[in-house]
Amino acid sequence: LARATALVTELVEGQAEEWDRTGLLPPELLGKLGPVLCAQVATEHGGLGLSSRDNGELTAHTGSLCGSVRSVMTTQGMAAWAIQRLGDAAQRARLLPRLTGGELAAVAFSEPQAGSDLSAMTTRIRDEGDTVVLDGHKVWVTGGHYAGLIVVFGRYGDGGAAVVVPADAPGVRVRRIPDPLGCRAAGHADVELDAVRLPADSLLGGAGQSLSLLVTSALTYGRLSVAWGCAGMLRGCLAATTDHARSRSQFGKPLADHQLVSGHLGRLLIAEQVSARVCEHASEHWDSGSPDVVMTTVLAKQVSAVNAAAGASAAVQVLASAGAHAGSLVARAYRDAKLMEIIEGTNEVCLVMLAGHALGGAR
Ligand code: FAD
Repeated sequence: LARATALVTELVEGQAEEWDRTGLLPPELLGKLGPVLCAQVATEHGGLGLSSRDNGELTAHTGSLCGSVRSVMTTQGMAAWAIQRLGDAAQRARLLPRLTGGELAAVAFSEPQAGSDLSAMTTRIRDEGDTVVLDGHKVWVTGGHYAGLIVVFGRYGDGGAAVVVPADAPGVRVRRIPDPLGCRAAGHADVELDAVRLPADSLLGGAGQSLSLLVTSALTYGRLSVAWGCAGMLRGCLAATTDHARSRSQFGKPLADHQLVSGHLGRLLIAEQVSARVCEHASEHWDSGSPDVVMTTVLAKQVSAVNAAAGASAAVQVLASAGAHAGSLVARAYRDAKLMEIIEGTNEVCLVMLAGHALGGAR
């Protein structure tokens, strides 16, 4: 963990403003980060074999430095988890070393008419002889612009399946989404799949399962990663805000000595601490294999995303004009955090799931 954290610091610290401005991450960066982007993958496949808890700390550290790199880390980890969880031994041995070697993979669930309601997915996956054929349209695929592989979820017979699609396969069209609100260098893209024909072993082993179970399995990783990223974003905001409140004076004393400003600092600390604790709680459930991992992860995602959005807004308030430059850490956090309330299950969808748990109908 210490070496991975140091590598992220070395390669990412001080660069996020430039990447946010240009909307692009340098391709060699992703290659250099390699296994760090999917650090829970086992060492036998070239990964670091980290626990969810340690990977969470690494994700938080990355999130404190750059929301775009953290987004790519979330998507790479989620793709690796989908391959690990749904693929057979041969697929794991073939595909996971490509990801740990630095080739980027993205994950595609969402469609123009299937956002919160993924049961409305219309992407079709069908067998044809020795091949599998895909038709569909996916939207807002994080990392899609950089990805060599895309894990596409769709309908397969009466159930669902996931297929690993090379981004350069005939019939695949990837279009980068210009000027997103936040995480601007995360390479969001729309992906069209027009009669994409692939070898049958591109279909991950879990074919024909319930679509909602397949999606929940992959999203659980993504939600926990986003939650840790939000805790990290709050750490970055807290550091920037306390530095500023100590060093800038108005009305003859440091901002920190004005009680209304110190109230913001206190609430930011609460937001960061509470977010970190719910993330640790969910990761403990992940690491112990508890079935409550699904609910605790939704809880962590909901608490951390709401806290990050409110905390980043407070941080901009404390820095005021000093935080009003588009590329400043707090301005980026303000834009990036808002998106965390939308992805991997919106605030409202997470609340509905938590209410279902309270009512005893969901874990
Ligand atoms: P809608 O589902 O249309 O929702 C609109 C509003 O209605 C929201 O406020 C929502 O909470 C509310 N709403 C909907 N249903 C209910 C309900 N039952 N009860 C209460 N309120 C409800 N998708 C991928 O597949 N892969 C990715 O890598 C990926 N990355 C993304 C990155 C970013 C930055 C963004 C913005 C999106 C990304 N997405 C990705 C898509 C994302 O998962 C969807 O945007 C999200 O699920 C919400 O769907 P929607 O935008 O269609 O909103």
